[in-house]
Amino acid sequence: MGHKGENLTGEIPDRSAKRYRESALVTYDCRSGTFAYRVTGTEPRSQTAEGRPLWQILEEERYSDKQTAEAFREKLMEIAGMNMPCVYFTEYPLRDGQGKCRWYRVGFICSEPGRCVNITFTDIGEEVFDEAHLKRMLETDPLTGLMKRETFCRAVESLSVSDDAAAGGYAMIFFDIVHFKAVNDIFGTDEGDRLLRHIASVINELAREGDLTCRFGSDRFTIFTHDAGPGLEERIERMLVRIESFGLPIGIMCSMGVYMTEETRLSAELMIDRAILAQSVIKGSYMQRFSYYNEELRNAMLTEQEITGMMENALRKKNFVLCYQPQYNHHTGMLVGAEALVRWKNDGRGMIQPGTFVPIFEKNGFITKLDMYVFEEVCAFLRRCMKNGVPMVPVSTNFSRHDIFQPDFVERLESVRKRYKVPVEFLRVEITESSIRGNSKMTNEVISKLHEHGYIVEMDDFGSGYSSLNVLKDIELDIVKLDMLFLSEEAGGNRGGTILSSVVRMLKWLGTPMIAEGVETVEQADFLRSIGCDIIQGYLYAKPLPEAEYMELVRKQAIETRLPQLEVIDKFDVGNFWDPKSQETLIFNNYVGGAAIFSYCNGKLEILRVNRKYLQEVGMNLSEKDFLASDAFSVFDEENRSVYVEMLDEAILTMEEQECETWRHYRSGVCGEAKICIRSNVRMIGRCGDNYLFYAMIRSVRQEKESDRRNAGREKRCEEAGEEADTHYWEYDNAHAGAHTV
Ligand code: C2E
Ligand code: CA
Ligand code: CA
Repeated sequence: MGHKGENLTGEIPDRSAKRYRESALVTYDCRSGTFAYRVTGTEPRSQTAEGRPLWQILEEERYSDKQTAEAFREKLMEIAGMNMPCVYFTEYPLRDGQGKCRWYRVGFICSEPGRCVNITFTDIGEEVFDEAHLKRMLETDPLTGLMKRETFCRAVESLSVSDDAAAGGYAMIFFDIVHFKAVNDIFGTDEGDRLLRHIASVINELAREGDLTCRFGSDRFTIFTHDAGPGLEERIERMLVRIESFGLPIGIMCSMGVYMTEETRLSAELMIDRAILAQSVIKGSYMQRFSYYNEELRNAMLTEQEITGMMENALRKKNFVLCYQPQYNHHTGMLVGAEALVRWKNDGRGMIQPGTFVPIFEKNGFITKLDMYVFEEVCAFLRRCMKNGVPMVPVSTNFSRHDIFQPDFVERLESVRKRYKVPVEFLRVEITESSIRGNSKMTNEVISKLHEHGYIVEMDDFGSGYSSLNVLKDIELDIVKLDMLFLSEEAGGNRGGTILSSVVRMLKWLGTPMIAEGVETVEQADFLRSIGCDIIQGYLYAKPLPEAEYMELVRKQAIETRLPQLEVIDKFDVGNFWDPKSQETLIFNNYVGGAAIFSYCNGKLEILRVNRKYLQEVGMNLSEKDFLASDAFSVFDEENRSVYVEMLDEAILTMEEQECETWRHYRSGVCGEAKICIRSNVRMIGRCGDNYLFYAMIRSVRQEKESDRRNAGREKRCEEAGEEADTHYWEYDNAHAGAHTV
């Protein structure tokens, strides 16, 4: 390619010379991004072309205007990105050496996708048009006929200058097609072009008089409309529907940002930037297809820029400081651990909370550096505790989803830990529920590795959305953290409580200790205790404390480092037990009689599960939910209750199966009230501190009892009669009734 003054073939232009019409060949190497220029004419190729991108040469050497050069670059990139062979021809007006515009036929040929694209230029010798034609050519996009970017911006600005109303009351709309590349890839570039022309025709059709419309580049479009009143939204909707109705087997979807102009005038580019910013919020959402710009968005963007600019320096200057929030056993009042929470001590902005910077660091990847720094600070702190004779309490460190999938994540933790010589049992790794999404296998690999080294792994924010109870079964977690915020507020009190109790019930059954977070009131804490969740972290006990204050607290506070955990005595696969399709559930539901699992703690009995036959035995049209929701002891009167408790105590003492019969008083909405005699056989299957887990088999013996009663009545009458006759002719002995007949 030539420098200024030469034409594309590197020769002095000579209209009579036929070889001028020969073509130039440019080869683009997709992998290295470099160009090689070959000319079929006689002239050696220009040295100045060496190593320079084609579009740069086109623009800088004034072969074309900036926008044509840009269109060129986009087309080339699009074709270089295709994953199948393709040939694409188009025509561009380019200037020759004398500054005259001529038509060139340009071919993009990609026979080896991913390797190289050949670009051919052929002067098709068309005589160049008059100036007006040329101007139009340069100002409009040849494919769609819409304005080109520069023209559009100029037009917008001249409009705002000449039209006072343009200061307010206009809207700048920006949109593009979600996955446009897929259209090109699957259906070919011709189809892609047809779609772009379809969009242009829809825009033009729905445009109001005076609106400016533009193909901003590739699949991006902008519209500047003065009709930004109440009808705008409806017009946008209509436009989207029309665009998206383009008949292709895959759905076409647009994503749009809208900036409503304000009193102060902005340049066209700035208005477009704002529309793009508005669009960025909904990118990737299938629900929302357009969104408006607002000042908060801009502030968020500015904050993000500011924070990103300062973060590296802040880390170097150790401006990130740690707080420790204590965790207590509500049952015993003892300290069981703490969570390290980071803050940013910033000269200009005071203390910045993690809610502001953590999401930004997660986006830009800096979080991994910060989390490693926090972990190191935690190790250093624990080392200081050891040195100063301060009792050791485990500390949890938060790790973002970006951290844990780093290939050397565990090795890096280990190298820091060893440097500070901190025993691993005092370090807990907190990962969030969202890390697990779709990554169960990878997550478990990381967790296993952490376990091999002895780390305790906690799952943060359980209940924040994605969590399904299956996660608990699939992921080998040591501790689950339940956030009160997620469970109460949005779920609306009562439902939150129900969800929470079923989660807690399941966790207990799995033997997974839990920590309730964000506990602010005594009522919450008591409720948590009542459902068996004892470890509490929240403002009720303590806010996150600066290191010195926390260390003081540790010195004074009674400490308990072992979290209570359920020991399962029988060989049950507790995980399977909750899986509706598991063998255990099948057996539980179908092959044993009426059965229940319940926990028994300090005189409180809570049913965790009952099977179908249990419900049938009791009858009364009661459901499993009725049993789980109610106080299990409420069906007993004083006497029957003590019979039952005695049996449980005996079962705990002997660790053997025990049996009893009790009368129970059931109520149901459908069947009213009834007294039913139940024979139960129970066996203790697990233990966690004072909390015992039982398996119970039940059988209703009401009918037997009733006939017993009748018999007993008859016996009594006979006895009386016999006594009278001094004859003992009836003896009743009921082996089953045992000692506890009621
Ligand atoms: P998180 O891990 O869920 O931490 C608990 C947050 O709840 C903390 O906010 C804590 O101060 C707050 N909190 C504790 N008790 C209560 C309470 O009773 N009521 C209320 N309303 N809030 C309570 P903080 O310190 O602002 O941290 C916010 C989030 O920032 C953390 O949520 C965590 O996701 C993230 N974060 C904090 N430090 C780090 C870190 O070192 N690394 C990473 N990756 N994330 C961190
Ligand atoms: Ca956390
Ligand atoms: Ca949390």
